[in-house]
This record gives sequence, structure tokens and C-alpha cells, in this order.
Amino acid sequence: MRKRYVFGNWKLNGTVAGNAPLLAALRGFQSSEGRVCGVCVPAPYLSQAQAALSGTAIGWGAQDVSRFEVGAYTGEVSAAMVADFGGSFSIVGHSERRSVFGEADSVVAEKFGKAAKAGLTPILCVGESLLERESGQTEAVVARQLQAVLVSHGVAALKGAVLAYEPVWAIGTGKTATPDQAQEVHRFLRELVAKADVQVAAELPMLYGGSVKKSNAAELFAMPDIDGGLIGGASLIADEFLGIWSAL
Ligand code: PEP
Repeated sequence: MRKRYVFGNWKLNGTVAGNAPLLAALRGFQSSEGRVCGVCVPAPYLSQAQAALSGTAIGWGAQDVSRFEVGAYTGEVSAAMVADFGGSFSIVGHSERRSVFGEADSVVAEKFGKAAKAGLTPILCVGESLLERESGQTEAVVARQLQAVLVSHGVAALKGAVLAYEPVWAIGTGKTATPDQAQEVHRFLRELVAKADVQVAAELPMLYGGSVKKSNAAELFAMPDIDGGLIGGASLIADEFLGIWSAL
């Protein structure tokens, strides 16, 4: 039986003063067996998240990690540093990293490896643009993005990882994939992993991300290959985030 997950991605949002009530509201979150909840905060707020969420059932982590471990890499934050703050996961390969910061599949694969090596759960994001969907390339694109990690690290590296399908056209746009559209891609990805290892595929948690709200979460999470959500905008609103959690 796979666990169920809800992760929040705060992106480039927050202030110490503004984060405090959001984190305080999350403290009231009730854990339950087989369910995992966490927030991916900007690096300067890791210590605030650690202080506010220690002792609760909500974990904290990062939105990205460096592909380097240590040294003269100005501006970078390593996976080991996130782990040092008690972080337990990191997003890698979010579409905004890929498109705005030009991260190639090979760079994402390196980051995946560094996160796993540091003991973080990598949350690997894959997803197609609108143009790619409309030209029938959805499966080819997500397969290429996933294969980059499989080729670099082997299918066993997916044990303990989380895969997030996030169609780029649905992120922050208010346009959510229908449950059937999302399920179709999730099933395709699980079948792809199963070609390498049936057991790893069966156990791999797969999250959907893209304009998930408390009003549409339940129908998405009801699909057989959707094990929860990666939540952007709605994770900044305690009532929405907790409502999405309740839909798991
Ligand atoms: C995201 O940033 O991963 C995301 C899914 O954003 P949103 O929920 O705002 O679409």
C-alpha cells in the first residue's frame, strides 16, 4: 500500500512575519497513518520552518538543491545543508527551474542524486508544456525527463523518491488537468518504471501538481495512480492547504 502525500511549494513567497501565522495554522494539522505532509520553503526560511514545525507531523524541505556538494559555488544551497536543518525532502526539476533557469534533464538528474545522497526524499517533477501536449508529445516529454534520472542513477534510485507529474500549462494558471488526463499520464509513467522494475513501480508515490485547490483535490486524489499532490499557490493559504490535505 503506497503512502499518500501532500507537499506545499511556497516558491519565491514569504516573509518572516507572514510565514508565522501560516506555519502556526499548520501546527494544528492531524497526522494519520500512511499520510505524509510537508512544505518546501525558500532556503532563508528553513530555520523558521524547523522552529515552527518541529514536533508536529508536518515536515519541511527545499524547492531545489545544488548539483554541487561544497565549494566555490556562490548562491547555491546544498542538499546536505537542507538535511542539516532537519529538512527531509527537496523538489528537483520543477518546471520553473527547467524553463526559467535553463536546467537540462542531466542537471536535474545530478540534483536528484545529490538529494538522495544527502538522505532527502527527492520530489522529481516532470511535465509537458501546452505546445507539447497539443502536438501529441506529452508521453515523449515526461518519459525523456524520467529516463534522464533512470539512466544516471538506475531504477533502484526511485525507491524512497516521489514523482510529481505537473503539466506546465496547469501550474499557476487555474487550469487543472482533469482527473482522467492526469491519471492517463500517471499510469503511463508507472508503466514506464515497471518496464525496469515492477516492484519499484508499484511502490512509487506519484503526485499531481497544477492548480490543485481544496475544491478539486478529492476527485484528482481518487484516481488509482494519483497518490496526492504538489501544491503551489494554494499552499500559501492555510485553509486551502489543510482542505487539500483532508481530501487525501
Ligand atoms: C507548483 O508550483 O508546483 C504548482 C503546482 O503550482 P500551482 O499549485 O500554483 O499550480
